[in-house]
Amino acid sequence: MRTSRGIVENQQISNVKDLVLILLKERSGMEISPTLVPGFGVYYSIAGFHIPADNIIKHYREAFLEVKGYVSFPSCSICRSTSLKLEVLCPNCRWNDLLRIDLVVHYECGFMAGVEDFIKDDQGVIEKCPKCGKTLKRVGIDYGRPGLGFRCQRCGTIFQYPLTTLRCDKDHVTTLDKLNLERYPVFTVSSDLQKVQPVIDLIQKIERELEHSLGVRAEALKIIKGKSGTVHLAHVLIYFNNKVAAIEVLSEGVNIMEAMSTVSKAVDLGIHFIVILDEKGAAEYRKVLNPAYFTLVPMRGGRFEDFKDVLLESVYSIVKEKNI
Ligand SMILES: [Zn+2]
Ligand SMILES: [Zn+2]
Ligand SMILES: [Zn+2]
Repeated sequence: MRTSRGIVENQQISNVKDLVLILLKERSGMEISPTLVPGFGVYYSIAGFHIPADNIIKHYREAFLEVKGYVSFPSCSICRSTSLKLEVLCPNCRWNDLLRIDLVVHYECGFMAGVEDFIKDDQGVIEKCPKCGKTLKRVGIDYGRPGLGFRCQRCGTIFQYPLTTLRCDKDHVTTLDKLNLERYPVFTVSSDLQKVQPVIDLIQKIERELEHSLGVRAEALKIIKGKSGTVHLAHVLIYFNNKVAAIEVLSEGVNIMEAMSTVSKAVDLGIHFIVILDEKGAAEYRKVLNPAYFTLVPMRGGRFEDFKDVLLESVYSIVKEKNI
């Protein structure tokens, strides 16, 4: 049972991951907020798909999401369900068959009812109190109009404020003052993945090419943990003979900070890195990076076809060499 559940969960992660990638490619809003679907619970909508909150919260890092903030939803005080229904009840008999009425109160005798219960003249103006029969002339002096209220259709009680309770999907009743709150994260696409956005198509092309031309198992955009415990986003991971190497694509005009973060990523992961970067960058970093740990592939003109062969050769030599 455990195994089959694990598989389902893994599928769910890759589904969420794929949806986040769609979101990134569409360049639509990078913020993913929870929504409460009455009767069902809390969902996140990514690229038009609704995913139950638990499926995302458990594995959000693997799906390239970061927590940006939180929002709260009211929940049952007994079972913490967020599926709540507001009930408006008669404060006298607690029945819920109520009618909205326009209230009139006769100050002298204290009678209060809906405007339709008072006796009116030919013009439809309030004339007499139905309880004591006295004439009502001036609003605000003889009688008042406090506004809208309710009449219980079961016991006839008239009141301004109904009793409000919340009933959960398991039939527990909570009052407003005892309500619980459930906090849910608001996610955003991780800054690491947002940085990858300009080269995402290239990364996926590389993944397909490695499998197709070299028969090497490759995986694009993967979250892996380094020796320090930090999680890194690898652009492409290459698996061979129980070992792993990575391909990193640096966009054109890469700055020293970005190049350095690739270096520290490689050091923390302790694996060989093939870095694809523009020719100027390649010439510069060739002087400082140790070829035992880094293979630099210059990106000529930024087109995959122009550096494809050099890349395939580099991958091939690493896979072959480390295989021996
Ligand atoms: Zn409940
Ligand atoms: Zn009632
Ligand atoms: Zn009266």
